[in-house]
Amino acid sequence: MRLAILDFGLFEVYQNGRLIGIPGYLIDAGSRKILVDTGFHVDYLADPIGVSASDQLANFGRLIGYSARYTPSTQLQLLGISKIEITDVVLTHGHIDHVGRISEFPHARLWITAQERALPRPSYWAGKSRIATWPNMSTTIITNTVEMIQGVTLIPTPGHTLGHMSLLVNLTNSGNVVLAADAISRPDELIEDTWGDAEDRELARTSARKLLDLAKREHAMLIYGHCPKQWIELRKAPLWYD
Ligand SMILES: [Zn+2]
Repeated sequence: MRLAILDFGLFEVYQNGRLIGIPGYLIDAGSRKILVDTGFHVDYLADPIGVSASDQLANFGRLIGYSARYTPSTQLQLLGISKIEITDVVLTHGHIDHVGRISEFPHARLWITAQERALPRPSYWAGKSRIATWPNMSTTIITNTVEMIQGVTLIPTPGHTLGHMSLLVNLTNSGNVVLAADAISRPDELIEDTWGDAEDRELARTSARKLLDLAKREHAMLIYGHCPKQWIELRKAPLWYD
C-alpha cells in the first residue's frame, strides 16, 4: 500500500494572508486505486478569476497560479496512473475545493457519508453550487467507522460539515497516517478551540479531539486539511509514502 499527496493548487486567504494548499490523496492498494477528494471544478482552469467571482470565492481569497498542473488527471499522471484506473473515490465532504472534479470518475465507486449524500447537491460554497446534482456513480454510504479495504479506515468526523469524513491509512514503512481533512484544518485550531468555520462547532470540537486521540493511539502522522506550514514540508506526488 502506498499513499501520495496530490497538489490541487495554492490559495491565499485574504482575512489572514494564509497560503493554504488544496490537497487530494491517492491510495494505491494494487488492484484498488483510491482517490480522496478531487480539487476545484473544471471551470476554474479557463477562468479562475471570473469563476471565483461568480462562486463568491473571490470574497474569501484567491487561487494563486492555478493551471492544469493542479488537476487530478495531471497529478495522477505524475504517479503514472490514469483517471480510468481509479476504482474508488472517497469524498471527505462536498466543499468547493474537494468536490469540484467528482464527475470525472463515473466508473469509480463513491464513498460518502449519509449526511453528505442526503444533501440535494454538494454543499459547495456560500450557499450555491456549480454542481447541480450528485453524479450517477455506484455509491457506498458510510454511517459508522468502517475499514473500506484492509489498511484504509473511513471515519465520520462531523462538524466542519455535518457529513465530514476523515481517514486512517496503515503503511508498512511510513507507519500510520491520519488524513484529517477539514476536521482539523491546522494545528492551531486545537489550541484556539473556537471552530468558527464549522457547521456545528460542538461536533467539530468532539471530532477533532477524537482524531487527535486516534493519531496518538495509532502513533500516526496527522495530515491537516490546510496547514500552510505542514503543506510546504509534505512529500508530494510523484513521491510516495509507502
Ligand atoms: Zn471544507
